[in-house]
Amino acid sequence: MKNSLKMPSENSKRNTHHKVIVIGSGPAAHTAAIYLGRALLKPLLFEGFMAAGVAAGGQLTTTTDVENFPGFPDGISGPELMDRMRQQSINCGTTIISKTVDRVDLSSRPFLVGIEDADEGEEDTFTCDALIIATGATARRLFLPGEDTFWQKGVSACAVCDGAAPIFRNKVICVIGGGDSASEEANFLTKYASKVIVLVRKPRLRASAVMAKRMYENDKITILFNTVATSLIGTTVLEGINVKNVMTGEESLIKASGLFYAIGHDPNTQIFKKQLALDENGYIITEGKSTKTNVPGVFACGDVQDVQGYRQAITAAGSGCMSSLDAEHFLSG
Ligand code: FAD
Ligand code: NAP
Repeated sequence: MKNSLKMPSENSKRNTHHKVIVIGSGPAAHTAAIYLGRALLKPLLFEGFMAAGVAAGGQLTTTTDVENFPGFPDGISGPELMDRMRQQSINCGTTIISKTVDRVDLSSRPFLVGIEDADEGEEDTFTCDALIIATGATARRLFLPGEDTFWQKGVSACAVCDGAAPIFRNKVICVIGGGDSASEEANFLTKYASKVIVLVRKPRLRASAVMAKRMYENDKITILFNTVATSLIGTTVLEGINVKNVMTGEESLIKASGLFYAIGHDPNTQIFKKQLALDENGYIITEGKSTKTNVPGVFACGDVQDVQGYRQAITAAGSGCMSSLDAEHFLSG
């Protein structure tokens, strides 16, 4: 991480000042860019290069079928949906740079945006009048032995997205976590699974009373306290989860076709710390129902500000649209 920003040099071949810069490449960023492009604001978008461990295109590049994005009655693969959004951004006038933003300075105008690994002769600092942050959030994973093999072949971090897949129908599914997300995911998964086993590492849930009650009252849900997963087994798809009771040390195998993580998300806000108001979990705080941050001219959309936990492609896209309209209003005004 570089500590200081330098202004663009006078000899730059690139026009380094832009009315609006967008950081991110998921549904929020591309929807913002499409609207900004159509408003003739010529947005510059940094899509990242494996930023926060996710490929350009965002979280949907890590999944197979997306069945709940309107307009695709037969579903569409996540990567294809994102390719289409990217192409639409370009068609609407967006310039895309495949680099990760590694520093910003939002303390003065114009805002400064710096990229890592600039190519030979390339500027590494850009300026803008308005900035849209759409850097997303990353679902936490445990990276258990076997997880990479079975990721999206039984292992997922999004029940709403993947729970209805045929591989989970009438099968045993495990959920790891003891918070509200775990309760929500477990209850949701009972629509498809024969049984849902919730693995909680402590002797108690973290979930709120009402969400905990929902789990206890669901006949299809069993909660195993003091239990951690240690490794995953299977051939082509997940077939079992080795678990350990942390109080007794006893180890056992749960035969299961699914494993869903519900151990929280981390918003990708590292570079905005001390520059923008963040909540206690690191999410960017936005004003009321707008996408305005506490710094005038800086807007946030998508999962990076989704404290309510909607975290869906369509809600990210919707807030991307809002951020572009907020930015247009700011620039015209
Ligand atoms: P993201 O999709 O998180 O994209 C943010 C992008 O910004 C990433 O590519 C990241 O690398 C990049 N970035 C981060 N920091 C920087 C930086 N400093 N510089 C440049 N780039 C940066 N939702 C659905 O509606 N339907 C589904 O079926 C569905 N399936 C899912 C399956 C999985 C496995 C997962 C993990 C999520 C799924 N979701 C689904 C949720 C959905 O993917 C997210 O809600 C949505 O992608 C959020 O969009 P976003 O634009 O906010 O950010
Ligand atoms: P959370 O409240 O932080 O709970 C995370 C859970 O995962 C905890 O039980 C935690 O265990 C467990 N965990 C964390 N790391 C783990 C690890 N390495 N191994 C095993 N278990 C691990 O997260 P969340 O459930 O995603 O909720 C986040 C916020 O969104 C909360 O404020 C929640 O109220 C809210 N939310 C609300 C709703 C709703 O009201 N409908 C739905 C979803 C989320 P420990 O307790 O041991 O730390």
